[in-house]
Amino acid sequence: MTDRVCQEVQANLPAYVARTLAPFRRNLVALHLRRCARCQAEFSLQRELHDGLQSLAASGDTPPDGLLESLLQQADSPRGAAQLRGAVSGAKPVYSAVLLLAGAASAAGAGYASWLTAKNVR
Ligand SMILES: [Zn+2]
Repeated sequence: MTDRVCQEVQANLPAYVARTLAPFRRNLVALHLRRCARCQAEFSLQRELHDGLQSLAASGDTPPDGLLESLLQQADSPRGAAQLRGAVSGAKPVYSAVLLLAGAASAAGAGYASWLTAKNVR
């Protein structure tokens, strides 16, 4: 039962971090985060990813078409993290950090979506 709540909360975290969550749900997530270490860890990750993506979008330094997407796809595979590190070595610092975070995030697809959102908002 707790796990089911955690799954729901974590599924809502990208929207929570991006402040696009409805107030009612937002409160539920905030309450749960206060007493759940696992979801707090996921929240920190999502927030770092979101911030990284925001600053990437703000810098105007957009990734080449398809690069981020293909990296995120790789991150889903067991060897993804190692491939990711190889792929970003030599990339610009802000860029590397974002891509590594993207690889670490369990909801990487949602993170990519929030990057697209950040880009469009600009
Ligand atoms: Zn939880």
